[in-house]
Amino acid sequence: MSGNQPVLEIRNLCVDYGLGDQAVRAVRDVSLTLHRGEVLGLAGESGSGKSTLAYGLTRLLPPPGVVSGGEVIYHPREGAPMDVLRLSDAGLRKFRWAETSIVFQGAMNSLNPVYKVSTQLMDVLAAHRPSMSRADRLARARELLALVGIAADRMDSYPHQLSGGMRQRVMIGMALALDPQLVIMDEPTTALDVVMQRQILRQLVGLRERLGFSVLFITHDLSLLVEFSDRIAIMYGGRIVEQAPAERLYRDPLHPYSDGLLHAFPPLRGERRELTGIPGSPPDLRAMPSGCAFHPRCPKAMDACRTQLPRLGRPALLPESDADRTVACVLHPTG
Ligand code: ATP
Ligand code: SF4
Repeated sequence: MSGNQPVLEIRNLCVDYGLGDQAVRAVRDVSLTLHRGEVLGLAGESGSGKSTLAYGLTRLLPPPGVVSGGEVIYHPREGAPMDVLRLSDAGLRKFRWAETSIVFQGAMNSLNPVYKVSTQLMDVLAAHRPSMSRADRLARARELLALVGIAADRMDSYPHQLSGGMRQRVMIGMALALDPQLVIMDEPTTALDVVMQRQILRQLVGLRERLGFSVLFITHDLSLLVEFSDRIAIMYGGRIVEQAPAERLYRDPLHPYSDGLLHAFPPLRGERRELTGIPGSPPDLRAMPSGCAFHPRCPKAMDACRTQLPRLGRPALLPESDADRTVACVLHPTG
């Protein structure tokens, strides 16, 4: 259900760890647009910069991380677009809580063990909707738990009385408490078993259709993204190297790295793929390869790849029906 209106436009974002000569650039000139009601998947091996991008764009990056360039334009439901990187502290607090929610991998462990889940949900509402009555907060907490598939008789459970999957559902309910427009999920289900992961993600995508929020879904597991995203962006060495509708990327990856990632996971459906993985290791940020950063591992590398940095763009030879695809590889000149 992807609309054409943007919710978030990331433009030329750069994020460094450290300052001056000691700085290493973990996110390099990333531009990405997330549309209203869309699930945008972000994939890449460990260390490719996915979490740094998510923390950077929400200004939650812990030191020594610094956003060193770019813009993050957020389009609220009402009012003028704003650059998140230039918001005042008050504006930033509102953006973080009322407009955006983040669910991290270990989120379920951040529930407070000494409070009932209902109390913790109601506390979020009390902090951000102070005019809400206690009865309304209770009703909303019940509604939120129902949304994420937790029965009303679990309202008064303590976190340790719930399974890992249920605790993660509570966290997703909490993330939806203030009716955000944008939900960022960083490996939200990685700690759970495969069946539970899929159940929770299916439910989340269903809620997205009902409630209309957008999701930036980050994982190293490309097969999950193919199943649950509308569009996928692939990151390598801090850059986006390919971006395409999920089904197109799955059927016909253009970048050799995307192709390698797709062959690193068993497919969910259809014909079996041979699992080959990607030889070598991700690049060292302190000594990035020249030209295309993937060239030392790329089965299709040629001389030009060692000297030319391929720019992300729409390949000239793609048909009109592939208008929404971009790739950064010399094999696909952008014309
Ligand atoms: P993962 O899937 O393992 O979380 P990722 O794709 O999210 O990986 P990041 O965690 O964003 O990648 O890391 C990107 C790069 O930034 C990595 O090379 C990492 O070593 C580096 N990095 C992350 N945190 C720091 C830090 N505090 N100081 C220095 N470098 C860091
Ligand atoms: Fe491989 Fe060259 Fe394309 Fe990089 S630019 S992915 S090295 S073919």
